[in-house]
Amino acid sequence: MSEELGELSRIDGEVRACRKCPLWKGRLNAVPGEGRPDAKVLVVGEAPGRNEDLEGRPFVGAAGKNLEALLAEAGLSRADVFITNVVKCRPPMNRRPSRMEAETCHQYLSRQVKIIAPKLILLLGDTALKQFLPDESLAGVHGRRVVKGGESYFATYHPASVIYNPSLRPTLLRDFQKLTELLAD
Ligand code: SF4
Repeated sequence: MSEELGELSRIDGEVRACRKCPLWKGRLNAVPGEGRPDAKVLVVGEAPGRNEDLEGRPFVGAAGKNLEALLAEAGLSRADVFITNVVKCRPPMNRRPSRMEAETCHQYLSRQVKIIAPKLILLLGDTALKQFLPDESLAGVHGRRVVKGGESYFATYHPASVIYNPSLRPTLLRDFQKLTELLAD
């Protein structure tokens, strides 16, 4: 476990100094991710927002509270998982990261996946889905396990989508409840 911690903290350092795509120009803090190095679930969102950029931590403020409530539906707490994003620096005006930005930043995410070796990669929202399963749509695969290239994925809507579209909340809750069964397998 200390070896994994060391490798994750090496990635932290690289991300905080990274200037490989234009997003570094607008950041206050890069947000490499945080959590258990041996987590069974690796949570992947889209990108840091304003609060995350201020604190250098993923899913804080309202977004963090939403995520924590959803994780609880799956019998998980924040302390059980590792949380990160497709891109580690905040896009201007919280726009969606470009394909180039996501692809450039993927080197860090793919190393995090290898080190943590989670049982399940939880993809939150379309940007995270497309990063790993580019041929799938959220409407088609949300709420079920998809196995590809030796990894297990579980996609659902981004918790922030509930803020703008409250009708998605029951679907999100059901998807997170299904996680409990998958993790018990
Ligand atoms: S988003 Fe990723 S690739 Fe772009 S500057 Fe930040 S850490 Fe580097």
